[in-house]
Amino acid sequence: MDISFILNELGEERDQYFNAVSPPIMQSSNFCFKDVAGLRTAMKDEFEGNLYSRGQNPTLNILRKKLAALDGAEDALLFSSGISAISIPILSLLKSGDHIIAVDNIYSWTIKLFQDLLPKFGITTTFIDGTVFENFEAAIQPQTRLIYLESPNTFCYDLQDIKRVTTLARSKNITTLIDNSYCSPLFQQPISLGVDLVAQSATKYIGGHSDVVAGVLTGNKAMLKYIFEHEFMNLGPALSPPAAWLLLRGLRTLPLRLQRSFESTKTVTQWLANHPKVQKVIWPFSPDFEQRELVRKQMQGCGGLFSITLKNSSFDKIETFCNSLKHILLAVSWGGHESLVVPAIASVNEDQYNEHDERHQLIRMYIGLEEPQYLIADLEQALNSI
Ligand SMILES: *Cc1c(COP(=O)(O)O)cnc(C)c1O
Repeated sequence: MDISFILNELGEERDQYFNAVSPPIMQSSNFCFKDVAGLRTAMKDEFEGNLYSRGQNPTLNILRKKLAALDGAEDALLFSSGISAISIPILSLLKSGDHIIAVDNIYSWTIKLFQDLLPKFGITTTFIDGTVFENFEAAIQPQTRLIYLESPNTFCYDLQDIKRVTTLARSKNITTLIDNSYCSPLFQQPISLGVDLVAQSATKYIGGHSDVVAGVLTGNKAMLKYIFEHEFMNLGPALSPPAAWLLLRGLRTLPLRLQRSFESTKTVTQWLANHPKVQKVIWPFSPDFEQRELVRKQMQGCGGLFSITLKNSSFDKIETFCNSLKHILLAVSWGGHESLVVPAIASVNEDQYNEHDERHQLIRMYIGLEEPQYLIADLEQALNSI
């Protein structure tokens, strides 16, 4: 489907709301019917119709169609956060005694889900280095029901060979779920690489303005309908209509914003790589990125999220550098208009800091929509301060 059609027209039945170009926020918890027969039909299939907004809602339905089409998926489910788009399908599809294979260094709350929450329900997880394909084969057990991917991840940008892993998973009847937040559907299409379920934090690129928290899960209709009719309706992670409207608004400019961030990040990472005080720049589209061949194979582009390390990287030096930035904001999250920085030492105590552990040295940066020269000037003065 043409991306311009998806972003500007798909799902928008304007004659149903006064031919307004911008869709209405359907701020209603429930929907009424002319007769019992109509109510009965709606109650029988909440996945398709509008009955109650913990299930479906017309504003959300416009977004649902667009996000499914962007992923090349049959359907989509919308969530009030990215993490619920990850946790709810897993709680829905797995049961006590089942086993998960997950890759290392994934999103922090996803790690907590596997380590703390799922064991309470008798579901166990083996973490593996997903950059080595053979590790997947070796970790499979008879009870393995799910392979969980995040490619690339968002601190050290490890990739998995998605096509090879899904081919293996299919041969063993194992479901695959990927967190595709880093690339967004514009730069990586996991469904076409054989993944069953694609989760994304819509808080990041889809929203794009740092003003809404949301998640999306795409995949085949039967699987999504099952999740919807069970754990989705039971746990109640529905997105609100105003939040859905903000995501629709964000979607209009998604290709522009991503392309801008991608281009600016090329300029900024190149500048950083040549700076004498910078040890290393880790970004999938850097010319010396370790897994660059796999990047070329399965990603069409890249977001503005990357990490650097400083030369002779002491705890104080990292802290001084981050504190010295005047325009790049110290904050978590990413995908908005504003450039950000978050050092790994924000979650490491000074007495635990190990200057030989690269993971402690990492400073994660996100390049937003500002002029690259404006950001470079900020980085330059902060590097001069150390
Ligand atoms: C932010 C993020 C999430 C969680 O999304 P929320 O919308 O914050 O719940 C999951 N995965 C990745 C890679 C993220 O960056």
